[in-house]
Amino acid sequence: MSISPLMPVYPRCGVRPVKGDHCHLIDEDGTRYLDFASGIAVNLLGHSHSGLIGAIQKQAETLMHVSNLYGSPQGEALAQRLVDKTFADTVFFTNSGAEAVETAIKTARAYHQHEDGDANRTELITFTNAFHGRTMATISASNQEKMHKGFMPLLAGFQYAEFDNLDHAKSLMSDKTAGFLVEPIQGEGGIRPGSEDFIRGLRQLADENDLMLVFDEVQCGVARTGKLYAYEHYGIQPDVMASAKGIGGGFPLGACLATEKAARGMGFGTHGSTYGGNPLAMAAGMAVMDAVANDEFLAEVTEKGERLRSRLEQFIGNYPELFELVRGKGLMLGVKMKVESRPFFVHLRDNHQLLTVAAGDNTLRVLPPLVAGDAEFDEFFDKLSAGAASYTPAG
Ligand SMILES: *Cc1c(COP(=O)(O)O)cnc(C)c1O
Repeated sequence: MSISPLMPVYPRCGVRPVKGDHCHLIDEDGTRYLDFASGIAVNLLGHSHSGLIGAIQKQAETLMHVSNLYGSPQGEALAQRLVDKTFADTVFFTNSGAEAVETAIKTARAYHQHEDGDANRTELITFTNAFHGRTMATISASNQEKMHKGFMPLLAGFQYAEFDNLDHAKSLMSDKTAGFLVEPIQGEGGIRPGSEDFIRGLRQLADENDLMLVFDEVQCGVARTGKLYAYEHYGIQPDVMASAKGIGGGFPLGACLATEKAARGMGFGTHGSTYGGNPLAMAAGMAVMDAVANDEFLAEVTEKGERLRSRLEQFIGNYPELFELVRGKGLMLGVKMKVESRPFFVHLRDNHQLLTVAAGDNTLRVLPPLVAGDAEFDEFFDKLSAGAASYTPAG
């Protein structure tokens, strides 16, 4: 037998964390890493937040799981909190981001296949370099061929328009169009915020043609950008939105949020999940909302994001041969490099014990826990400076 017991779909690196400590990870062999990856925008409260841990412990002792066949006081409470804090009127809980996007896609299709709708409208327009997850529907929603290879046939019903190009999206519209599925700020694609004209333009096209505007805020949502959800930066609201990653603070949790109108096709028996919204997940989600869904916390994220960004902008000026620019919002920042970003991210990780994430468009993602402060930022710049000074790009 030569296959590894863990199916070898990830090229796993030598960092093997066994313990978390606030903004640090500690490896099997005791090495400490500064974690500015946060499990890819997941551990927004760091690794040892007493509120989150206490809530999970308490709920685990009380009631971990019951079927969705029963009433859910825990689910109602978290759904109500999300409804109070967002555009949405109703929420479906999932266990992951891809499932949240799947639910959003089904919601958008079912809107048109409802008796008051136009059942011809089955196609979603999605965008180049998007990432929506790894299920069949979510890889079909992305134009990235590296995710399609070996998994044909794709699910029908997706058209790819160029990201941030409103005219291109418009040119793909037809009487089959059901709506748009877009990350307002692309994550895996390289921390690329959609322009205000683009996002607001999609809203307008959806309004004019009775289409669904579906946001994938799995990465940019839940306080990451200094707003509870990134759509708030644009002064518009989606009809349907997928949330996950940070929403459980490290506990597997996702959610599909929708307006009452958008959810008109999602009646009894149309969708389901065995685990989705179980009491343990709801306790984690509620602890995260308690910590982040308030003006003080969000203002702090905004302010920290501005500080980190201006220090990054200053810093990259010292290495014009390596770095091109900084982009993003709040604590969702990307440094676009002039050289390949992946080897540099490996260098920071292996030689300077600094964890970041590589992304598309030669971008280095900087995603600190939202509870990081000046001490962690100072350590970040110490490691980044040492890393840049000691780096020689290949070729
Ligand atoms: C991570 C991510 C997903 C998929 O989430 P999973 O929990 O891995 O299924 C979907 N959309 C975006 C924008 C993401 O960043």
